[in-house]
Amino acid sequence: MVESLKEKILENLRKRTMRRKRNQMSKKEGWGLPQGSKKAHYFLENGMSLCNKYGFYRAEKEQGNDDSNDNCTACKKALKRKREREQADQRLKELDEKGKVNL
Ligand SMILES: [Zn+2]
Repeated sequence: MVESLKEKILENLRKRTMRRKRNQMSKKEGWGLPQGSKKAHYFLENGMSLCNKYGFYRAEKEQGNDDSNDNCTACKKALKRKREREQADQRLKELDEKGKVNL
């Protein structure tokens, strides 16, 4: 009796951990191939593509391979801008932490 209860708890814990891992995966942004599209589009965590043509994408996303010819051109451009913005933000943050700028 006690033993089976323990197993139940362990099983629940395992399920919860797996679910959390899956959530983390779908939350990550990356390239995905929506139905009916010949090109891969870059999807944000909220499931919107950077070119705004597709939304609610919940399937697997691939990280990297940003310059592939199979990627949507609009998404590629938007991703480049996004990365530049992130780098600039990061740089500002570093400077701010060193006390060199006041935001
Ligand atoms: Zn796109």
